Amino acid sequence: MRKVAIYGKGGIGKSTTTQNLVAGLVELNRKIMVVGCDPKADSTRLLLGGLAQKSVLDTLREEGEDVELNDIRKKGYGGTWCVESGGPEPGVGCAGRGIITSINMLESLGAYEESEGLDYAFYDVLGDVVCGGFAMPIRDGKAEEIYIVVSGEMMAMYAANNISKGICKFAQTGTVRLGGLICNSRAVDNEQEMIEEFAKLLGTKMIYFVPRENDVQRAEINRKTVIEWNPEVPQADVYRNLAKAIDGNKDFVIPTPMDIEELEKLLMQYGLMEAA
Ligand code: ADP
Ligand code: MG
Repeated sequence: MRKVAIYGKGGIGKSTTTQNLVAGLVELNRKIMVVGCDPKADSTRLLLGGLAQKSVLDTLREEGEDVELNDIRKKGYGGTWCVESGGPEPGVGCAGRGIITSINMLESLGAYEESEGLDYAFYDVLGDVVCGGFAMPIRDGKAEEIYIVVSGEMMAMYAANNISKGICKFAQTGTVRLGGLICNSRAVDNEQEMIEEFAKLLGTKMIYFVPRENDVQRAEINRKTVIEWNPEVPQADVYRNLAKAIDGNKDFVIPTPMDIEELEKLLMQYGLMEAA
């Protein structure tokens, strides 16, 4: 089973990209579990057709410790198992805590066992803050393969660089590796070239360039992934190709994060170029 985590700045498109890509992997007959690791608990909405999935933390709060596997996971699109870690009550406690609780719970209830026949576990993780809880999936080998969703906007690249620092740190003693950057376009000038160069400087590659496209929102309003909503539109092929790129990926590296001056230089260099 491949254990994959998708990291990136809040709002960059982690949950959208993860679920759309998972729909692409379903077409390749892969068996998948998606674990939402964001207190927003919206990592599986498109796969579940909008069904409210009760989070692991809420389930624990309401039902006590006596929880069964099917209390915390629901079957979604193409047989994909969907889990939401959830978050603490606002203003109380650490948001990262839910991730630790959820992964431990899934493990002890046997969700990762061979008999479950999973090809992939995906963790959709908020990456603005690299505190202990959010680093949990990359510690102790819970997730071994990381993709960072990024765009050509400075704060997204800044977060991607910080996440690379975290991966670098845990890779020294563990099995976690960076599999690449997914560019989720914000239609910034020279974006593709800049993110390709950014990836190279981080010691990795841009695994796919996902264009910004309104069909993503159209599908979202219908609570579906693009592939389920309309398999014929070009964006459906984008996610199929992203799924194939990840399914066939064999380049896993310890990243080489940049210092802030280097990052600013890169932004300057591409920002000042005439748009292609
Ligand atoms: P995150 O999980 O990183 O916080 P989301 O996946 O919730 O971010 O994405 C935020 C918004 O961006 C969503 O409403 C989604 O519709 C939109 N979005 C993401 N990717 C694309 C894209 N490629 N084209 C158009 N809209 C997108
Ligand atoms: Mg999200």
